[in-house]
Amino acid sequence: QNTIDKIAAGEVVERPASVVKELVENAIDAGATAITVEIKEGGISFIRVTDNGGGIPKEQVPLAFLRHATSKITQAEDLLQITSLGFRGEALSSISAVSQMEVITKAPEDFMGVRYVIEGGQEKVLEDVGAPNGTTMLVRNLFFNTPARKKFLKTAMTEAGYVSSYMEQLALSHHNISFKYMVNGQLRLHTSGNANLKDVIYGIYGRDITRELLPVQYEVSGLSVSGFIGKPSIARGNRNFENYYINGRYVKSKLLMKAIEEAYKPYMMQHKYPFVCLQYDIHGEDVDVNVHPTKMEVRFKNQSAIYNATYDLITDALAGKEIIPEVS
Ligand code: ADP
Ligand code: MG
Repeated sequence: QNTIDKIAAGEVVERPASVVKELVENAIDAGATAITVEIKEGGISFIRVTDNGGGIPKEQVPLAFLRHATSKITQAEDLLQITSLGFRGEALSSISAVSQMEVITKAPEDFMGVRYVIEGGQEKVLEDVGAPNGTTMLVRNLFFNTPARKKFLKTAMTEAGYVSSYMEQLALSHHNISFKYMVNGQLRLHTSGNANLKDVIYGIYGRDITRELLPVQYEVSGLSVSGFIGKPSIARGNRNFENYYINGRYVKSKLLMKAIEEAYKPYMMQHKYPFVCLQYDIHGEDVDVNVHPTKMEVRFKNQSAIYNATYDLITDALAGKEIIPEVS
């Protein structure tokens, strides 16, 4: 069991940023409206994620750390209608197999909270504690028992950079949640939880980018796209500013990348890339995000519809056209 968890951990837990991602997604799935993420030493020695979500009921705490224990799928057909971010039930078992974890959680229906300590997959402490509703997950010394994997980590500064980019993506994709992000005790990012997308873009990228944005909006049945795209004048030397979210999830997609870059092509020099921040709402059956455990790659059922929508909305916005979606 423990060996399997350690191996499984290799799929889910690659580096501190992937731990943060799993813990934050659990917090979001638990309905949190405020989430605090703290890291030290790039997250290698310390990651703490605190949320005000529904907590884990006392009797379910050790269960949540077992492989494939998930509370999020109740029926087979649910797989087609996944709205929660995590559904494989392997994050907590994987993370706890390769770190020293401590959890404090309280569900509103419980009188007391629970403190649970699990190190390298071994349960150490399970006790009642006083705690507010919600969950704190603390992960110490990632890969302390898998030195070969630890060697693959980069410097603390680089690892912190990965976490920071993820936190920015989160803030952009979830304006309705208040995020607080601390690195080595210093506040790096704080969003209010009731800001609009442009305010969040301003908070992350600053004024120079924010004032060169064009709003976009596109809607046909089963698909809506909205957000902001940058004027060609704020082109960048890399693709880090091509942000897109499918149903609230930050993903990578060669198809979207191609549609975006083709639309910008007439305006761009070679090796320059645009700023875009696009949010796609696609009917759950038309999109498959379950192609890789870290859930970054996405597949669309109707590729040409997504491609054309993206290409057209950018082309029209750059040409200064009013956006009138086709009626289908
Ligand atoms: P999954 O998210 O795929 O269900 P995880 O291993 O990430 O699997 O989590 C296991 C279970 O632990 C979840 O299904 C959920 O019931 C519970 N859980 C984990 N984190 C939280 C949290 N922050 N708040 C409430 N419940 C949580
Ligand atoms: Mg999860």
